[in-house]
Amino acid sequence: MENMLSVWKTKPKEGLEIKGAPVPNISDDEVLVKVRAASICGTDLHIYKWGPWAQERISGNLPYIFGHEVSGEIVDAGKNVKGVSLGDHVSAETHISCGYCPQCRTCREHICDNVKILGVDTNGAFAEYIAIPYRNAWVNDKGIPHWVACAQEPLGNAVHTVFDGEVAGKTVSIFGMGPIGVCAAGLCKLAGADKVIAVDMNEERLKFAKDFGADLAINSGEEGVDAKKEIMDATNGLGADVFLEMAGASGALRQGLETLRPGGRASILGIFPKPVEIDVTNDIVFRGISINGINGRKMFDTWYKAKSFLPKIGLERLVTHRFRLSEIEKGFGVLLKKEGMKVVLEP
Ligand SMILES: [Zn+2]
Ligand SMILES: [Zn+2]
Repeated sequence: MENMLSVWKTKPKEGLEIKGAPVPNISDDEVLVKVRAASICGTDLHIYKWGPWAQERISGNLPYIFGHEVSGEIVDAGKNVKGVSLGDHVSAETHISCGYCPQCRTCREHICDNVKILGVDTNGAFAEYIAIPYRNAWVNDKGIPHWVACAQEPLGNAVHTVFDGEVAGKTVSIFGMGPIGVCAAGLCKLAGADKVIAVDMNEERLKFAKDFGADLAINSGEEGVDAKKEIMDATNGLGADVFLEMAGASGALRQGLETLRPGGRASILGIFPKPVEIDVTNDIVFRGISINGINGRKMFDTWYKAKSFLPKIGLERLVTHRFRLSEIEKGFGVLLKKEGMKVVLEP
């Protein structure tokens, strides 16, 4: 078969390899997507840097093509494919579920016991073509450019976390202003939140949060700034109604819980590098707080909701850099220097 440009993780160390590879063969249940744009996710950065998570999770998968945030066009389809057609513009739900485990059979496919993740456990999107199960293909409106549509994954994660409970008329604190946190701030405002408080240690990222509608941006890394006091002051001493943890930092989790009002809701999306100690008795039990863990996107409720917000949220503002796929090292360079939000690669 034809040769394509593709980006591989071949060795258990920092870096990547760009090389030619055959265009993937599709099974009867897959579609072949011609990749028009793929964006770099935090997960890809872990894979690139070969940090502890990647070492534990990916070592057995090498060599393989990574990348999973994608938008492209269906150019071939297996004989069992239904619901999508040649020429459709699609993105991919990255959780490939088994369909038969107890989670899948009770509408919890996103936490499938046998989940495979696109570009982590299977060949991914940093290539000219990718094969995906047809059930994971999500049809995009053709009016949305590929370089914007590929960045729907962070929006989806934000949708799942924000709408895990009610936000209309509520005060929401969000810790961690990466692309997901910024999308969450925008969604909260679009959905009628009363006040959105964004917390991060990076001034640039806080500017994005403001731009997406955050009412208050707190730089917790700045000398003399007490995020806890600022949140309590901004909520008349009551605390936030809702706390969204998107930083994966123990300090953020503690401060978020301490500044959540009694009876409030905490939804945690952040991934913590180690176990975190929290005061369960005083911060959770006595104050009647609910804590929910959020994993990926709800399949496929989140996608339907995200579709309605996509034209309104201005996702294109998050795309700070666009490179050719062959320049992918430049893209990682930008993110390693913590300069960009979303870096998009176009084959
Ligand atoms: Zn991702
Ligand atoms: Zn399953």
